[in-house]
Amino acid sequence: MNNCIFCKIVAQEIPATIIHEDDDVLVFMDIGPIIKGHALVIPKKHCDPVGETPDDLIAKLHITAKRIAQAQMNGLGADGVNIMQNNGKAAGQEVEHIHVHVIPRFDKDGHHWNWNAKKYDNVEEMNDLADKLRSQLERR
Ligand code: AMP
Ligand code: ZN
Repeated sequence: MNNCIFCKIVAQEIPATIIHEDDDVLVFMDIGPIIKGHALVIPKKHCDPVGETPDDLIAKLHITAKRIAQAQMNGLGADGVNIMQNNGKAAGQEVEHIHVHVIPRFDKDGHHWNWNAKKYDNVEEMNDLADKLRSQLERR
């Protein structure tokens, strides 16, 4: 995909601060870090969204994210790590080339996700949604 900014990074058409790569994946520093040390794991091949990305590549992205998380803990002294992957504008995705955010967290980093937990109106509402999900999963 020629207008994709992450494909341009893979093709070295625009610069990035790369911290790891192999045949399948590239890892570089996010230019807008939520917390300093924030890295992005991407496939070298253009893929998006998550549902159209091959399972073995999904596995590779997340195995790599685990390695980056360990590097942030051991190398940056992170106390924790958020591993996130946004899909679709509704979920906050801006770059439509699948990527996994690996964000180092520190006990006093001052960042708080807007994790505003809601309540179901009643248990039937939750069960109805669970039924819809189960019926999709049974199709496979
Ligand atoms: P998302 O909102 O999940 O699509 O995340 C896109 C991420 O890509 C954001 O965190 C941006 O800061 C980051 N980003 C966009 N352009 C670049 C770039 N040229 N180099 C590094 N990170 C980038
Ligand atoms: Zn791309």
